[in-house]
Amino acid sequence: MLKNDMLEQWDRENFFHPSTHLAGFARGEVPQRVVTGGQGCHIEDREGNRLLDAFAGLYCVNVGYGRQDIAEAISEQAKELAYYHSYVGHGTEASITLSKMILDRAPEGMSKVYFGLGGSDANETNVKLIWYYNNILGRPEKKKIISRWRGYHGSGLVTGSLTGLELFHKKFDLPLAQVIHTDAPYYYRRPNLDMSEEAFTAYCASELEALIEREGPDTIAAFIGEPVLGTGGIVPPPAGYWEAIQAVLKKHDILLIADEVVTGFGRLGSMFGSTHYGIEPDIITIAKGLTSAYAPLSGSIVGDKVWKVLEQGTDENGPIGHGWTYSAHPIGAAAGVANLKLIDELNLVQNAGETGAYLNKVMAEAVGGHANVGEVRGEGMLCAVELVKDRDSRTFFDAADKVGPSIAAALLDQGIIARAMPQGDIIGFAPPFCLTRDEADEIACKTAKAIAKVLG
Ligand code: PMP
Repeated sequence: MLKNDMLEQWDRENFFHPSTHLAGFARGEVPQRVVTGGQGCHIEDREGNRLLDAFAGLYCVNVGYGRQDIAEAISEQAKELAYYHSYVGHGTEASITLSKMILDRAPEGMSKVYFGLGGSDANETNVKLIWYYNNILGRPEKKKIISRWRGYHGSGLVTGSLTGLELFHKKFDLPLAQVIHTDAPYYYRRPNLDMSEEAFTAYCASELEALIEREGPDTIAAFIGEPVLGTGGIVPPPAGYWEAIQAVLKKHDILLIADEVVTGFGRLGSMFGSTHYGIEPDIITIAKGLTSAYAPLSGSIVGDKVWKVLEQGTDENGPIGHGWTYSAHPIGAAAGVANLKLIDELNLVQNAGETGAYLNKVMAEAVGGHANVGEVRGEGMLCAVELVKDRDSRTFFDAADKVGPSIAAALLDQGIIARAMPQGDIIGFAPPFCLTRDEADEIACKTAKAIAKVLG
């Protein structure tokens, strides 16, 4: 057992924290928090603070903390068989069962699940599979991937390139040349305030088509997008967006990857964001909600069209040269099976839709009238409050004013964990699906107090 009085010091001396201001952390400017427990929507730290986690970790602990069913499934799997690989036809009861459960829940036209560990490696897999696919089809130039500015798809080399946020590119020599970006479907930040939502959708589709034509359709393999922009600001798409985008992609024979790492398994109040918005993807990325983060596990759900070509490729070239040691790790798979069962038993997809709509409603009532709130938006159990300097002219604050981070800090002072999204002054909420109406009221009321404290 660790000696508790040493933990903060060991943390500073030894631990490389991801997504952290490294120099600031070393100087003691980034508060340390050692998290020790969790139950329902709350976590506890070793100082004895009990916090309402309105971001479900990193929008991943969808069923809430402390679920014994999942813990027991993990424990039983570890005792029986902690590991075996899934190469050359091997599998475990848990991984095979989980692949069946995922396909039973997936949108039409999906064929197989490839398992990874996290969202980044799943998207890495997707890009590789699509390159393989076009090589087998004899189209070696059709390789570029289009992503959106403000999209988030991971932080590896290809996936950090797909991510359309400056912080993830700067000083890393990204994006790689095979990745190009198009406009974010972000109606509040439309280029011209007079544009209607329909006109903005048409604008996004025509910008995409112009990019494809500039680059040459024969060079573009795929388009990747989250059904609702997540880390880029929690932005549901404008009306008709997915229909318009899919028409452009079909016309130019470009595959569609729906990155459902956040939206998969219920966050929008539907099992998948694809069905929620009428998206017909060729590949779906899943992670987070697949196990509610009780164990690391991700997946690429490969559609029939791509699968047939992959099979053909192995007839021509031998086994597919792609695999991780921990693909379909039995402990992750056992957690996934128990998690998906729990989501059904507790009707959590329905609660995400209903209590999520309630959270969005009470949030709009609590803060929507404030002069610095430009927009309250969301879908299902996702909600965002965007702060602006001036509402009428839609003028934004300078990033240096740190308005978003100060409001998130003022919420934390009241025991609520929200997330200051990385680009813009946007406070994001993505609670566990077991959120109650009382907890939603508490989040909304304390957000109003936090905004008043920072902005008056
Ligand atoms: N895609 C989306 C939509 C995500 O939100 C994330 C993580 N926030 C990822 C991919 C990357 O997942 P991971 O951090 O597990 O690699």
